[in-house]
Amino acid sequence: MNIAIILAGGTGSRAKSDIPKQFVELSGKMMIIHSMEPFGKSMYVNNILIVADSTYRDQIEDALFDEESISEKMLGFAEPGENRQLSIYNALKEIEKMGLGAMVDNVIIHDAARPFVAVETIEECFKALEKSEGVMPALPMNDTVYFSRTGEKVDELLKRETIYAGQAPEAFNYASYLAANEALLPDKIFLIKGSTEPAVLAGMKVAMIPGDQRNFKVTTDADLERAKELIERNPE
Ligand code: C5P
Repeated sequence: MNIAIILAGGTGSRAKSDIPKQFVELSGKMMIIHSMEPFGKSMYVNNILIVADSTYRDQIEDALFDEESISEKMLGFAEPGENRQLSIYNALKEIEKMGLGAMVDNVIIHDAARPFVAVETIEECFKALEKSEGVMPALPMNDTVYFSRTGEKVDELLKRETIYAGQAPEAFNYASYLAANEALLPDKIFLIKGSTEPAVLAGMKVAMIPGDQRNFKVTTDADLERAKELIERNPE
């Protein structure tokens, strides 16, 4: 059994809008619904668990009335954590609390703020997971990259061909990934920025698959404008 964890527990502090960006409407539908649709469609995903504050849950449930492929897979909600990784940890523990721990093989973790994920990316993650314990879509760097401690001067040179930008969704073996997160409690988990970091720190084998430029994360107001334009130009 595979569960998709959709992260919508952020407060969107880097954008100006009053509500967190994942709940903003794009072409008449909340961003989180666009982000979940491919998980509803994918045969590899059995269930969906959303991390969201109770303030937004009714609104999400109302929107799911018209989304049968998602709502039939809905397991419920988990509480947001103090950072993104603690939100993930809460979802992993929620699976255990629901009594599903022993039945779950894999989790796939996605940002509600990435509304352009393709079904193919989800499926490629699960195919690659057959030969590894974790999978991350990654993009090569187009610009030359430099190392700087302060952001004010270049300290070291880096080999661009060895540097990649990680994207979501990332997929992991559930039991190993839960143990990898528990190993970082109580403090180290606050330093984690990307879902793959706990897996690598725990020595799990994480495969990389090609990322997708279109699957960008909506972070700033400029990203939100770009997302609106893209969805209006290519309605489903
Ligand atoms: O803040 P950032 O843009 O990195 O957030 C990426 C995703 O993680 C967003 O969908 C956001 O809602 C989610 N998140 C979360 N819990 C947090 C912080 C972020 O679920 N504490």
